[in-house]
Amino acid sequence: MSTTTEQKGFVLWFTGLSGAGKTTIADVVEARLKHRGSKIEVLDGDVVRTHLSKGLGFSREDRDTNIARIAFVANLLARNEVPVITAAISPYRETRDAARDLIGDGKFIEIHIATPLEECEKRDVKGLYAKARAGEIKEFTGISDPYEEPLDPEIKIDTTDHEPHDSADIILEYLEVNGFLAPAGELEGALA
Ligand code: ADP
Repeated sequence: MSTTTEQKGFVLWFTGLSGAGKTTIADVVEARLKHRGSKIEVLDGDVVRTHLSKGLGFSREDRDTNIARIAFVANLLARNEVPVITAAISPYRETRDAARDLIGDGKFIEIHIATPLEECEKRDVKGLYAKARAGEIKEFTGISDPYEEPLDPEIKIDTTDHEPHDSADIILEYLEVNGFLAPAGELEGALA
C-alpha cells in the first residue's frame, strides 16, 4: 500500500514540570520513530534556550517569547511533513493554546507529562529544586512560578506509574490509532 510511505506532519507538544521526564521520553519516542523510518525533529526546551532563545529569562514575557519561537519553528517543520517533538515546560495554558491555533488542532498533540511536583523534587536531577527552595533561583516553575495544567490534553502520562518505554508505547499507539503513523508491521506485511 502506498500510504505506508506517506509522511504526515504533526507536533507532539510535551508540557510538564522540570524533571517530569519530557526530555527522557522525547528521546525514546525519537529513537522509536526513527527506527520505524519516520522523520522526526526535536525542539528541546533546554537546547532551544542555548540557541534560538539565548538571552531570554523566565519572566512571563520571556517565557511566552520562548514558547512562541518554538511554536513558530515547529509549525514550519510540521507543515512540510516533518514530525516534531517539543519538550519545554510551557507553563501557561494561553500560550500553549496559541501554539495549538498556529499549528492547527488536527496536528497539535498536547502531551501532559503529569509527574507530581513531589516526585520531580525528589528526583531533582539537575539540583534546581534545592536551589529554588533555598531562594537561589527565582521564578522556578512549581515552586515560585505558576504551572497551569492542561485541561484537556490529547495524552496525559504520570511517570510514577510508567517507565519511559511504557510512556513511548502510549504515544506511538496514539499516533497509530489516529492515522499519523502506519501500524508496526504494516510495511513488512506490504513487502512480504
Ligand atoms: P524534563 O525534560 O521534564 O525536565 P528530564 O527528562 O530531563 O525531565 O528528567 C527526568 C529525570 O527523571 C531523568 O533523570 C529520568 O531518568 C528520571 N526518571 C525516573 N523515572 C522516570 C520515568 N518513569 N519516566 C521518565 N523519566 C524518569
